[in-house]
Order: sequence, then C-alpha cells, then structure tokens
Amino acid sequence: MGVNGNQEGQIRSPYPLPFHQLIESFRTLPGIGIKTATKLAFHLLKAPGEEVLRLSRLLSDLRESLVLCPQCQNMMDRDSGRESCAICSDPLRDPSTVVVVEDVQTLYAIERTGEFRGKYHVLLGRLSPLEGIGPDALRIRELLERTKTGEIHEMILATSPTV
Ligand SMILES: [Zn+2]
Repeated sequence: MGVNGNQEGQIRSPYPLPFHQLIESFRTLPGIGIKTATKLAFHLLKAPGEEVLRLSRLLSDLRESLVLCPQCQNMMDRDSGRESCAICSDPLRDPSTVVVVEDVQTLYAIERTGEFRGKYHVLLGRLSPLEGIGPDALRIRELLERTKTGEIHEMILATSPTV
C-alpha cells in the first residue's frame, strides 16, 4: 500500500487517486501518451461543469444510443426515427454497387474520401470488441439475403485477407 492507500505501482503518482486514475484511463486510448493524458485531465479539471457533464454523458450513453442498421450493419442513431442508416436511406446513393467492409471504421474511412456513392455491407456488424468470430458474427447471412433481392450488380470486397 502506498501513501494514498492505493495499490503497488501507483505509489509514484504525485496526484490524488481519482485524478491519477483519470490520467491512466486516458492513457489506454490510442495515440495518447502520458503528456497528453495529463493535459486532458487538467483541462477537464478547469473546464465548465456542464461541458464535463456533457462529455461524461456522451461516453456513458454511447453504446446504448447506437444500433446496427438492419440492412448494412453500419451503426446508426437509435433515436433517428429511420428504419436504416443515413447511407442506406439516402435515395441518391446507388444500391447496385455494394462495398463489403470489415468494420464500421473502414466504412467511414471510405466515406471520408467522398468518392464512393454506392452502399455498404459491414461484415463485423457489431460494436463490441471482436471476439469469437464465427459465421454468425460475420454478417454473411445478411449479405446473402441482400444479394437475393437482385438489386446488387457489383460487389467490391474491401476486407483484409483474414476476414
Ligand atoms: Zn445501412
């Protein structure tokens, strides 16, 4: 036990435990080192209360506020009132060309290029960490269902060799 009553390995932290834990939590995020983590923690300490509250609500509600699009398995706003995601329900997009992607991150990477005007199918249509991937986890059945409608004329695979 350290001076603050915290666990071994945390003894050298000069900060109070909750502040130290916040820094450590930021450090688990990709691309965030100790310096940035500390900067973020101090920023939040000084930020207006409502700003901090808004951030904490967004974080805690994130997974619940998103659902999978029943057509393409992209993520979508649970409260959008739409039956499919913004891409699937866009009448200006070409439904005959479908890009098959591994995950939603790849979908949005392609979207950012602004060059593809067709639709997508997300194989790993899930928002939780990818574990125990079997045929059910890969949304292949949904993809086959989509091909049966005859609407798809071209399918482009944008997946890694393992998937
Ligand atoms: Zn969709």
